[in-house]
Order: sequence, then structure tokens, then C-alpha cells
Amino acid sequence: MSKIKVMSENLANKIAAGEVVEKCSSIVKELVENSIDAGSSEIKVELTNGGLMGIKVSDNGIGMDENDAMLAFSRHATSKLTKEDDLFFINTLGFRGEALPSIASVSEVELLTNDGNVGTKINIKGGKLLNKEEASCKKGTSITIKNLFYNTPARLKYLKSEQTEMYNSLSFIEKIALANPDIRFELTNNRNSLIKTTGSDNLLKTIHEVFGLSVSKQMLEIKNSNDDYEISGYVCKPEILKSNRNFIITIVNGRVVRNNDLNKAINDAYYTYKPDSKYPIVVLKIEADPTLIDVNIHPTKQDIKFSKMDELCKMIVDTIKNVLYQNLLIPSAMPEINNTIEKDEIIDSVVKMYEDKESSVQTELDFSIKEDSAPYEKIEEPKELIINEEMKNLVLYPIGLALGTYIIAQNDDGVYMIDQHAAQERINYEKYLKALKEKEITSIAPLFPINIELAPSDFVCIQEHMDVLTNMGFVLKEFGLNTYIVKEHPTWLKEGFEEESIHKIIDSIIIMGNKFNPVKFNEHIAITLACKMSIKGNTRISIEAMEELLNELVLTDNPYNCPHGRPTIIKFSIYDMEKMFKRAMN
Ligand code: ZN
Ligand code: ZN
Repeated sequence: MSKIKVMSENLANKIAAGEVVEKCSSIVKELVENSIDAGSSEIKVELTNGGLMGIKVSDNGIGMDENDAMLAFSRHATSKLTKEDDLFFINTLGFRGEALPSIASVSEVELLTNDGNVGTKINIKGGKLLNKEEASCKKGTSITIKNLFYNTPARLKYLKSEQTEMYNSLSFIEKIALANPDIRFELTNNRNSLIKTTGSDNLLKTIHEVFGLSVSKQMLEIKNSNDDYEISGYVCKPEILKSNRNFIITIVNGRVVRNNDLNKAINDAYYTYKPDSKYPIVVLKIEADPTLIDVNIHPTKQDIKFSKMDELCKMIVDTIKNVLYQNLLIPSAMPEINNTIEKDEIIDSVVKMYEDKESSVQTELDFSIKEDSAPYEKIEEPKELIINEEMKNLVLYPIGLALGTYIIAQNDDGVYMIDQHAAQERINYEKYLKALKEKEITSIAPLFPINIELAPSDFVCIQEHMDVLTNMGFVLKEFGLNTYIVKEHPTWLKEGFEEESIHKIIDSIIIMGNKFNPVKFNEHIAITLACKMSIKGNTRISIEAMEELLNELVLTDNPYNCPHGRPTIIKFSIYDMEKMFKRAMN
């Protein structure tokens, strides 16, 4: 190879490094994915100062002979791909054969590898070979990277703080471990073990190893398939929601992907089971014929396109909704007290703290994961909760109203607090939703004339969507400039609130505008009207009214949440109370 050629190749590597190597976790990702491709059953990642000072990835995979080892550092060398488009078709994890040379061009690399016959050690610095020799090492490959970006200082400043880099790698290993429960993973930072899985090939056990017992015991299994797709995995009960989307993990043919439509489908499945600002913990595996999916292979993107996306999303939503419905529970007032704070929350707070202080403080931090006190096998349901089907027979005797807002009720099992607004909202929501789906609509003329005057653009919008109102049972006639008069409206509108309701409905149509979706619209209308038409907090109601409310509540499809996802009812079991008053001693 002539000198000039080598130089230009080196340059190309540096340019590519800007794309592939943007943070320590990208290096970790590339190396770990190579290890997986090498058929490893054990992969260990060791970071020094979050990866800023060093990254080492070792595996027990097939290893390389001397030739392959040299070839691994030359650009576009790959044993797997012929065309880039083949990437997903052949079901590999996306090793583009560029990562290693790119990384080597901006750092110091030591490679130790053994294919079962002979061991090889290679040292490269800034893309230049420094040393190559025979070495004794066990089968597999280990790659150590030091002095990242030493020759491209401009890029160095793009690296974040130690804690952020560490967190990114940790979050990647969490996901890849969940995607590969049969592989034993370990990640350490400055020799503290941050995550360790056993490679048990049991997804629930891996969830337990990654997220801890407090999460794994709240997970529900899902499984379904249609002609094209097979889905499986675990979804969390609404009790343990997160404040960000990072815990929605989607794995397609063994590869962790990020896809907005999938995330949206999963989130939609929790509709009314959770507030909009919270997100579930989900590990969803999708198996599909590779011809049905298409990967955008920009090296840093993990996005993916599906054929028959609508069917796939519908199956996901239906499957999750179904399992949530089967497992609806009244939250107990005494959720098990967890003295171990979840590790992601610890790390989150530490990351924030460090970013605030610009990481000038170097405290010894112990990120070692505390073993949950109970072993994995002991996962069991708390006994005091009531499954949905039993709920229909639940009798609650109201005692009174606390703070003008919470109904206090009791029965032989304990004491209940019910949020009167949330409870009535649930009842009304289901009532309205049912009325909206009804085919046979009865309408009546309003007692007093109702005129609706709109802004010109809104008037046009309603004109265009008049069929929506007609289908709901409204008869509107144009009445002067930008004004409608309501001739008839459906009977289910609450008496005295007809005009307000019509305005709410019209507003919703205008807001949805061109993106009008009848299912979403019905749900939105039902929620909005239910909220409006339900007794507010701080309103006194009679014991009889409470009784009626509770009787209606237990008969709803989801008595546990208001349509915004807030809880309607909380139980204090006799045991909870005895514990609180120390009548029971454990
Ligand atoms: Zn409300
Ligand atoms: Zn609500």
C-alpha cells in the first residue's frame, strides 16, 4: 500500500469517527455488538472514569486469527456484509466493518484475540500499527481503548461528563442485556459493578437483574402473533410508571430499535391507565420475517420501518390493553416500602448533580447494585389487592366525606378512600363513550335556542366536518354569518349543560382539524365531558349519593383509574392499619 493511500484512508477514518464515535457509549455499542456477532456467551465491559479514561470490552466469542485481526482494522473489512441493504436481511446486529478502524484512528487500541489455536496481540495508535506479536490469551477477543480523541482534541470537548458518559453506556448495556437474555453481561466503572446478568435465557429474570425486584414483580407477560409478526415480552402494571420514555424497550429480531410508532402504540395501550406525563416500563420483542422490515442504516440511528405497521400496532395495543385489563388492581395504601432506591433514579440524580457542578468534584461514588433482599424466586403478588372480576361484587359502605373530596368507605376487608371527582369521572367517561359508539341515536330539540358563533376559519372547519356532528345526533343549520343554530342534539347530553357540551365538542373538532381520528375523538370527547360533568372536589354530597356513586363505580370496566389515569380508589387493609398502629408487628 503506498503512503498516500494510507494517509487518505486515515483521513477517511477520522471523518468516519466523527459519525460513528460521538460518545463513549457509541464505542461500547460497536464493540459489544461485535462481541455478540462473534457468538459470545459472556461479555464484560470495563470503563475507567465513565469511559473517558479507558474502555475495555472482553468476550469469549470465536476470536480471530492473526490475519482477521489485522483485517479488522482496515476500513470496510467485514466478513458479513456484501451490500449495506443486506444489513437486516441477514439478521446481524449491524456491524458495518467501519467501527474498529474509526475508533483506532482517534485513540490507542490494544487487541488481544485467540481463535482457539493461536493468540495475537496488536497495538495501534492513531491508526498506525505499533506492534503485532503472538500472545497467550484465552479464546475470545478483548479490546482496550485509551486516550480517546488524543489526536483530535476538537472532538474531545464533545464528550460529556464522566457520569453522563457512564450513564449512556449503562443504559445501552441494560437494553442489549434485555435483548440477549442468553448472554452474560457485566459492566463496571472503576471496578464497581453497575450491572450484571447471568445469561439465564429467561427474560423475566433478566428484567429482575437489570431493573431490580421492585420492577420485575410488577411485570405482566404478553404474547401474541398474527400472520406476519410475533410479539412477546413484559409490560409493567400502572403502579410503577416512569417519568420518561427510556424504559420502553423494543427489540426487533434481537436488535434494540427505537421507533416512534411502536413507542406510541405502547403508550396508547396504557391510555386512561396512566397520566400522560408518565411512561410504562416495557420490554417488547418482535419477531418478523426480515423481508417485512427495513432498517435505516445511518450508523448512529437505530430506526426501522415495518410493512403492515397498522396491523402490528393494533396487535400491540390490543395485547397490552388486554393484559392490563385482566390484572387491574386497587392500589394498596401501603405499597411495599422500598429502602433501596431504584438505581436509575440514583444515577439520574447524580448525573444532574454532576452536570450542575461541571464535574469538578471527584467523590468516591458507589454505584454497586444492592442485591434485593428477597431472591428472585420469591416474586409473588401482594395478597391484599383485589382483582378486577372480584371488584364487581365489592360492596363498599360509605361513612362520610373527608376534606369535601374523599369518600371514606369500609367493608370487612378494610377502609377505602375514593376520590369523588375521579370516581364520577370514570363512571361518566364510560357512559359517554358508550353513548358515542351507539348506532341508534335519539335526538331532541333544545329547550332554549342555542346559537353558535365561530371565527371564520373555524366555521369552515365545522362545515367540513359536519358529518361528525350529524353522526353524533346533532342537527345544525347555518344561521347568519359564521353562525349555526342547534336544531337537535343527542339526548345523552347532561341537562343544563347542553350548550357547554356542544361548545366542547366543536372545539375538539377544530383542534383535531385535518388529523381527525374518530376513535381518538370519541375518547377525547368522553374524557372532556366526563370531567366537566362530574362533581368537583370540595362539594358536599349525601351518603345516599355516595352509595350510588360507589355502586356505579364498581361496575365500570376500569374502576381503578379516572380517564386521565389517576387512581380513583385506595385501600387500607385491616392488616395495613394494624401495621400502621403497630398492632401487628411485622
Ligand atoms: Zn377531571
Ligand atoms: Zn381525571
